[in-house]
Amino acid sequence: MSIKLTILGCHSATPRKDAFPTAQFLEINDRHFLIDCGEGTQTLLRRHKVQFAKIRHIFISHLHGDHFYGLIGLISTFGIHNRENDLHIYGPKGIKEIIVLQLKLSKSWTKFSLFFHELKNNESVLIYEDKKVEVHTIPLDHRIYTNGFLFKEKIGQRKLNMDIIKLNPEIEICDYHNLKNGKDFISSDGKSMIKNSKLTLPAKKTCSYAFCSDTAYKPSITSIIQNVDLLYHEATFLEDKKSLTEKTKHSTAIEAGKIAKQADVSQLILGHFSCRYENLELFKEEARTVFNNVHLAKSGKVFEVK
Ligand SMILES: [Zn+2]
Ligand SMILES: [Zn+2]
Repeated sequence: MSIKLTILGCHSATPRKDAFPTAQFLEINDRHFLIDCGEGTQTLLRRHKVQFAKIRHIFISHLHGDHFYGLIGLISTFGIHNRENDLHIYGPKGIKEIIVLQLKLSKSWTKFSLFFHELKNNESVLIYEDKKVEVHTIPLDHRIYTNGFLFKEKIGQRKLNMDIIKLNPEIEICDYHNLKNGKDFISSDGKSMIKNSKLTLPAKKTCSYAFCSDTAYKPSITSIIQNVDLLYHEATFLEDKKSLTEKTKHSTAIEAGKIAKQADVSQLILGHFSCRYENLELFKEEARTVFNNVHLAKSGKVFEVK
């Protein structure tokens, strides 16, 4: 049960010498997800030693260029590498048309299968699920249709309390499966019963990560991301440029801090910094006036939760 988040790019608008637009690589319970894919993502994946083959699911928040202009290049490279594994892309309606048109006109059809999962809901919906992990959308408030993503480990099985089980010889190995799934033990003749809570211990704590970019201050998302271990929230501006947030539909560092506080999260990561600012420490300082556990995103920085 763990989360490892590698920040690839974390600045807004355009790529610059030492600043790349949004992209992140998330490892959660042995699953691997790429979140957004701004220009330069391939370079950053190589620089931070992420194996391309691990990427099977890509989540795109919205169709502003700083969040997906690296995607066609990455798909093209997968093709050159003779990739065989399926690739699933989750993003706003229209993403299939944009990608397929480029592949078609450049006669660069992939040999691997590409699956598009186009999103248009305005409510939070479950978009990915397997035995261990689920991913939900977080509807955001931006100039175009945008979703954040909530990545959650599923609650695991209860652990067998062997010290107690050994004292009850009538419990056999074939009963363990039911016990792990929370069922009480009932003897084969149906005459005796032992409560599950006496025979098992709670499942391990699960981890969760919420990615929220780009968005204006939207307090209603706090019900979706309540108590997450790790929250990435955009902070494009400081208070000095708060007047720009209304038109651009972005947030300030203090607004990101307010969301973290209202959602009662454990840690907040700020990112999507405007290139107007040289001293990024000011983002941390301003957010800390409302929420204490604040970190700044930085290319190559790794955040882990266990
Ligand atoms: Zn952006
Ligand atoms: Zn945007």
